[in-house]
Amino acid sequence: MDAPGTTNNPLRVAVVGAGPSGFYAAEALLKSGKTVRVDMIERLPAPYGLVRYGVAPDHPKLKEAILVYAVIARLPHFNLLGNVTVGRDVTVEELRAHYHGIIFACGAETDRHLGIPGEDLAGSHTATEFVAWYNGHPDYRERCFDLSAEVVAIIGQGNVAADVCRILAKSADELKSTDIAAHALDALATSRVREIHVIGRRGVAQAKFTNKELKELGELPNCDAIVDPRDLELNSESVVELEVKSNFVSAKNVEIFRAFAARGASGKPRRLIFHFLKSPVAIKGAAAHMEQVVLARNRLEGAPLQQAARETGETDLLQCGLLFRSIGYSGLPIPGVPFDARKGVFPTQDGRIVDGGAVMPGLYAAGWIKRGPTGIIGTNRADSIATVKSLLADLSRLAPEAKGGAEVLKPLLAARGTRVVSLDDWLKIDAAEVARGQSKGKPREKFTRVAEMLKCLDGS
Ligand code: NAP
Repeated sequence: MDAPGTTNNPLRVAVVGAGPSGFYAAEALLKSGKTVRVDMIERLPAPYGLVRYGVAPDHPKLKEAILVYAVIARLPHFNLLGNVTVGRDVTVEELRAHYHGIIFACGAETDRHLGIPGEDLAGSHTATEFVAWYNGHPDYRERCFDLSAEVVAIIGQGNVAADVCRILAKSADELKSTDIAAHALDALATSRVREIHVIGRRGVAQAKFTNKELKELGELPNCDAIVDPRDLELNSESVVELEVKSNFVSAKNVEIFRAFAARGASGKPRRLIFHFLKSPVAIKGAAAHMEQVVLARNRLEGAPLQQAARETGETDLLQCGLLFRSIGYSGLPIPGVPFDARKGVFPTQDGRIVDGGAVMPGLYAAGWIKRGPTGIIGTNRADSIATVKSLLADLSRLAPEAKGGAEVLKPLLAARGTRVVSLDDWLKIDAAEVARGQSKGKPREKFTRVAEMLKCLDGS
C-alpha cells in the first residue's frame, strides 16, 4: 500500500471544530499538493465557531473572515459533518480507526475561574456566557442576565471585556442593524444599566486591550469613558516597560487612557469607569443574589514586563447588581485525548498531541486548544499551518492502510440517530437566516436553537 497522501491511498484527516483554526488547517491540508480528504466535524449545525459566536455583533468587519472560510469549504474534497459531537456521537478511538490523522481545533469553550467566595451567586456570570448569549449560541439561549441592575462590574481588561462593555454601553438602536440575537436585543432594549466598572488587577500600562478596541470605548455616542488621573501615575518599572519597543501597544494604551482622563465626563447617559490595581476577593449578596464585590487594592511587584499584582491589605466595596468575569477562556477535555487542566489545553509538541511527553501518533491540535486563548483570528492561520506541517512530516509514520473517513463515519452516525448536517444543509440554514434578517435590516437573524436549524432542513 502506498503511503497516505497518494492517489491510491488518500490522506484522510478529521478536523474537529469548524472555527478559524479548523478552517485554516483544512486549507493548509487541501492546498498541500498531497491527495487529501478533509472531514470537518463540528458539534453545532452551524460552522465558524468563534467568528459566529464570539466576535461582537457590532464588529462586522471581523466577521468577514467567514467569507474566506466559505471559500475553503468549497474546495474539492472538503466535507462538513455538522451536529456531531466527538466524545458523544463518535469516540476518538473510532475516529482513529477511520482516519490517518485527527486535528483537534476545538477552541477554548469555557471560562477560567476566579476561585473567590460568592463567585457563583446569581448576578455573577462569566463573560463567555454573555458573549455566547448575545451572539445566539444555542447552549446559552436560555440564560438570563439581570439588566435591571444600574451598576455592572466587569473583571478583566482584555478585548472580551471591551466587547462586553460596548454591548452594555450601546443603546438597542445602535445594535439593531447588527446580527445580534433577537432575544438579546429585546433584553438589552429594557436595560437600566448606567454605570459599567471595568476592573484591572494591574495598572494602566498592563491593560490587555488592543489600541483600536480601547480607543473605541472612548468614542461611544451614549457613554463617557472615565479614568481617574491618579491612576496614570506610573511606577519606575512601568516607565521602563513602556520604553520597550515590542511593548508599543501598551505605550499607546497609556496615551489613550491619558486622553480619557483629560476629557472627563460629558454627561452622556452611561458611564464606563476604569479601575486599576484592584482584584476581586469576594462577591457578597443576600438571598443568593450578588449585591457587592470586595476589591483588594494592589501594588505591582517584579521586574519590568513581569510585574504581578500583590494585595496591599486595603479593600474597597463596589455595590453592583451584575458582574461579569472576563479573565480568559479555557479549553475543555475530550475523552481519549490528554488534557492539561491547569492550562486548559491539549499538551502538544509542534502541534503533535503528547501524553506524558510521548507523541500520540495521528493526533494533532491547532488554535486555542493548542496554545491557549491568545492572539487575534489571523494568528490561528500560522498556528494551523505549523500543525499541518508536522502532520505532513509524519506521513511515513502514520497508519499506512487506506482509511474510510466520512464514507464509514456517516452510516455509523446515521445508525446512531445523529442527523449529520452537511455543507449543503448549512448553506440552506445560512440562506434562511439571511432571509429572516432582511425585513429587520439585519445581515441575518440567527437560529438560536439546534432544533430550529434542523427543522429548517427537514421541516418536521
Ligand atoms: P486577555 O486578553 O488575556 O485578558 C484577560 C484579562 O483578565 C487581563 O486583564 C488579565 O489580567 C485579567 N485576569 C486574568 N486572571 C485574572 C484574575 N484571576 N483576577 C483578575 N483579573 C484577571 O483575554 P480575553 O479578553 O478573554 O481575550 C482573549 C483573546 O481574544 C485575546 O488575545 C484578545 O485580544 C482576543 N480578542 C480579540 C478581539 C478583537 O480583536 N476585537 C475581541 C475579543 C477577544 P493580567 O494581564 O493581569 O493577567
